[in-house]
Amino acid sequence: MNPDQNLTYANRMDRVRAAMSSQDIEVLLLSVGAELPWLIGYQAMPLERLTMLVLPVDGEATLVIPRLEAARVTERGDVFTLAPWNETDDPIAMVGDLTGKASTVAIGDLTWSRFLLALQHQSPTIDFSPANQVIGELRAKKDPFEIEALREASAAVDRIAAELQAGNIDLVGRTEAEVSAELGRRILAEGHDRVNFAIVAAGTNAASPHHEPGSRVIREGEILLCDFGGTMGTESGTGYCSDITRCVHLGEPPAQVREAYDVLFEAQAASVAAATVGTPLEDIDAAGRSVIEAAGYGEYFVHRTGHGIGVEAHEDPYVVSGNTDLLEAGHAFSVEPGIYIEGQFGMRLEDIVVATDAGPDPLNLVHHHLAVI
Ligand code: ZN
Ligand code: ZN
Repeated sequence: MNPDQNLTYANRMDRVRAAMSSQDIEVLLLSVGAELPWLIGYQAMPLERLTMLVLPVDGEATLVIPRLEAARVTERGDVFTLAPWNETDDPIAMVGDLTGKASTVAIGDLTWSRFLLALQHQSPTIDFSPANQVIGELRAKKDPFEIEALREASAAVDRIAAELQAGNIDLVGRTEAEVSAELGRRILAEGHDRVNFAIVAAGTNAASPHHEPGSRVIREGEILLCDFGGTMGTESGTGYCSDITRCVHLGEPPAQVREAYDVLFEAQAASVAAATVGTPLEDIDAAGRSVIEAAGYGEYFVHRTGHGIGVEAHEDPYVVSGNTDLLEAGHAFSVEPGIYIEGQFGMRLEDIVVATDAGPDPLNLVHHHLAVI
């Protein structure tokens, strides 16, 4: 066990307890999902056998876990203790005992409903609320360990994007699915443990922001949008995500594509530049969106500017109109405007950015131009 990492988990536990206290939450329950690995470095198996951390605001944390899974847990005695259960035990009753007389309980947002329903049936007077209200803000503000993990993951996908831009990945004549599979292999080869997605969208398909790569053959004379990322470092208990989008053009782009790309390039840079600490998140969205609107492409930018990133590929904070929360140092998020013209072409440009007191710190440094290959 890395002692420094244990300090990190103990510190997170302290911050969660402080947030629980300020929100009058007596007990926090975490099962599957990203909250548990963020807090204790262990990811619950998504199985019918219950794994659940019971964290009282002023008591010891206990991980209720199937005995057969207990061997996989890195014990962190000063952070939590283990309560393994046997096949004939009732884990819901164990969680009930550890929860005691608490009446306000926050529970992980992705906890299976079968467990929540059983807990509600067992203790009908408990007022349950979503754990993200307690933890989301804490997870959004990355500590130095997390920022370095995100930087490493971003550098890995940057190396793949650089190969793409340099024409070192075969494209013309292959299907979107084949290129997507190759990006996936490269994501793993560059040190990720998991591929989260590898969108490859050619020509008119690029006008669908979350296009599913298929049998469409990539041709000369069209734009290719590649949006890919994975999770790195899961062996330390908590992996961190990468997420990048770059477009390339196979042959000289027509004037219409070049014009639109120039607008996109300027919009993305404007949103990154606007990402200074203390700025409302919706203003970061507006900074880029106004560039796209002024150029007449407003109706073609159909999604928010970005999402937070960390243990999950999408998490708080969201860079979206209506989010008046202020950007804080340590927030890590994507800036990814796009222009999607149905039946013609689509394009998106995405970096991960960390907010610091010295200004925005972009983690993706590979060039932002429309590479012509
Ligand atoms: Zn992306
Ligand atoms: Zn993204």
